[in-house]
Amino acid sequence: MRLLMIGPPGSGKGTQAERIAAHFGVEHISSGDLLRQHVAGGTSIGRAVEERMNRGDLVPDGIVMDMLRRPVEAATRRGGYVLDGFPRTVEQAEAAYLVARELGAAVRIALYLEVSDRELVRRMRARGRMAGRADDSDEVINHRLEVFTERTAPLIDYYARRECLVRVDGDRPVDEVTAAAIAGLREARSQLDG
Ligand code: AMP
Repeated sequence: MRLLMIGPPGSGKGTQAERIAAHFGVEHISSGDLLRQHVAGGTSIGRAVEERMNRGDLVPDGIVMDMLRRPVEAATRRGGYVLDGFPRTVEQAEAAYLVARELGAAVRIALYLEVSDRELVRRMRARGRMAGRADDSDEVINHRLEVFTERTAPLIDYYARRECLVRVDGDRPVDEVTAAAIAGLREARSQLDG
């Protein structure tokens, strides 16, 4: 399975991606987690992206693409992945499509987690208090939602027209969302295979 997760910040993308990956026995690759590891480790990538991440802005495409290339290739050879947080823009999706085609491994399914703005803000505030994420302050939360609407939301149409898009109502308890996502993905897979 090669799956992309699309969802606004606070939609539960990371949690669901992890559960879905475990269910289907593939790897979970999170661009945000990898970037945060670079920041924590003070690497050159980390230093290049820290300020933008703290502001809630996207980091440059080239950095993300270079960082993801090897893990994604390795996961592809081992049976697939759930990619969480990439692509974030139509430009990234187009660039990734060309790379994947070279590998003979274009993405087949995108999953969109739909969550209301009110619930998103509530969840991110809670996470900011608990996990102490630098980009979960009120001002940055609002900016990240704007960035999602402007840059990432166009991907929903993009994937609806190309690959198979599965929409899941993410405004529900976490276990219900997981169950709905897995059911939606199974159905999508059987349609693609059949
Ligand atoms: P996330 O954990 O997915 O919410 O990502 C946290 C932050 O990492 C984002 O606000 C961006 O600054 C950066 N980031 C993660 N993935 C990408 C990407 N595909 N392109 C650009 N920036 C990204």
